[in-house]
Amino acid sequence: MTIRQFENVTMQIQDVSLKPYNTFGIDVTARYFATFENVAELEEILNSKLQTSNPKLVLGGGSNILFTKDYSGIVLKNDIKGIEIVQEDDEFIYIKAGAGENWHQFVLHCVQNNYAGVENLSLIPGNVGASPMQNIGAYGVEIKDVFYELEAVHRQDKTIQKFGLEDCSFGYRESVFKSKYKDQYIITSVTYRLNKRPCFNTSYGAINQELEIMGVKNLTIQAISQAVINIRTSKLPDPKDLGNAGSFFKNPIISNEQFNGLKQAFPTVIAFPSGAEHTKLAAGWLIEQCGWKGYRKGDAGCFPKQALVLVNYGKATGKEIFELSEEIIHSVIKKFNVVLEREVNIV
Ligand SMILES: Cc1cc2nc3c(=O)[nH]c(=O)nc-3n(C[C@H](O)[C@H](O)[C@H](O)COP(=O)(O)OP(=O)(O)OC[C@H]3O[C@@H](n4cnc5c(N)ncnc54)[C@H](O)[C@@H]3O)c2cc1C
Repeated sequence: MTIRQFENVTMQIQDVSLKPYNTFGIDVTARYFATFENVAELEEILNSKLQTSNPKLVLGGGSNILFTKDYSGIVLKNDIKGIEIVQEDDEFIYIKAGAGENWHQFVLHCVQNNYAGVENLSLIPGNVGASPMQNIGAYGVEIKDVFYELEAVHRQDKTIQKFGLEDCSFGYRESVFKSKYKDQYIITSVTYRLNKRPCFNTSYGAINQELEIMGVKNLTIQAISQAVINIRTSKLPDPKDLGNAGSFFKNPIISNEQFNGLKQAFPTVIAFPSGAEHTKLAAGWLIEQCGWKGYRKGDAGCFPKQALVLVNYGKATGKEIFELSEEIIHSVIKKFNVVLEREVNIV
C-alpha cells in the first residue's frame, strides 16, 4: 500500500520488502519506507509525528548491512543526488556529491575528468553517503585520504552540521558515525579533495601485476581504476549473482607481542604491520585455516574464493548468516585466541 503522508514525500506503509534494497538479498520487511531526494524532504519526514514514535534506519545501497529480522520502524532511503565542483586551487579540486550518488559512478566521474585520488576505490558498492561511515578503503587508499568535509542533519534537533577531517576520527573501518555519534546523524553530502596532478598509489602488488597483464606502459588513473575493476571482478562475487556484503569481518589488529606468539605456533600466518606496536592479521586466512572456505549450510555459506565473504545462495535468512558468523568467530577464538569483529552492520 502507498500513501502520500506528507506534502512532498511519499511513504509506503506496511511490510515493504527490503529484498531489493540490500546486497545480501535478505527477504525482510520494513513497517514504513520513505525515500528522500533533498534535505527539505528529509526534514519533512523528521518533523512528522510518525518519526518520533518509531525507530529509524538510514539506508544507502544496502551493501554493508545484514537484516536479521523485519524492521519495525521507518527505513529512510537516501536518494540525494548531484555532483558539483565547489572550490579549486592550483593543486586540488573540491567536489561535493549528494549522499545518494552511487559511489562507483562518482569514482568514474572523477577518473574521466582526471581528478585523482579515488581510482583505487573503484567498484566498491554502495553510495557516497556511507563512504565516511566506515572510512571505506581498498588497495592502499581510504576515504580519509581524500575527505574534505561532510554535511549531516542531526536526527533530533534537525540542525545541519558540517564535519571536517578532524571531526570524523577516521580509523580502520571506523568513524565517529559508528561510535560516538552512532545513529545520531544523517549524512546528506560529502566533499572530497582530489588532486589535479595524480600521485599514483600502486603499493599493492596485485595492482602492478594487473597493470602488467593489461600491458600498461604509461601509468594513468584510468589504468589504475581499470586494474582495480579487473581484480575485484575476478575475486569478489557480484551481489547481482550472489548475495553478499563484501568482507564480513574486519582484519583483527593485535599487539606485536601476541603476534610473535601466534607466529611461532603458526609460521605461515598472513599479517601486516599496523603502526609500531600492532600487527594486522588477514581475517580471511584465519577463517580459511578453521576450514570454513567454501562451507555451505542451506543457503548460507562462505565464498569458495575468499573466506572473508559470507554469501547468500538464495533463500538464506539473515539469522542463518548471522549464526554462521557466530560459529566462525568461535572457531577462530578457539584455534588462534583472536576475536574477529564484524565489519557488516547487523540490524
Ligand atoms: C562485493 C562487495 C565488496 C565490498 N568491498 C568493500 C571494500 O573494498 N572496502 C570497503 O570499505 N567496503 C566494501 N564493501 C562494503 C560496502 O560497499 C561499503 O561499506 C559501502 O560504503 C556501503 O555503502 P552503502 O550505501 O551500501 O551503505 P548501507 O549498507 O546502506 O549502510 C551502511 C551503514 O551506514 C549507514 N548509512 C548509510 N548511509 C547513511 C547516511 N547517508 N547517513 C547516515 N548513515 C548512513 C546505514 O544506516 C548503515 O549503518 C563491499 C561490499 C560488497 C557487497
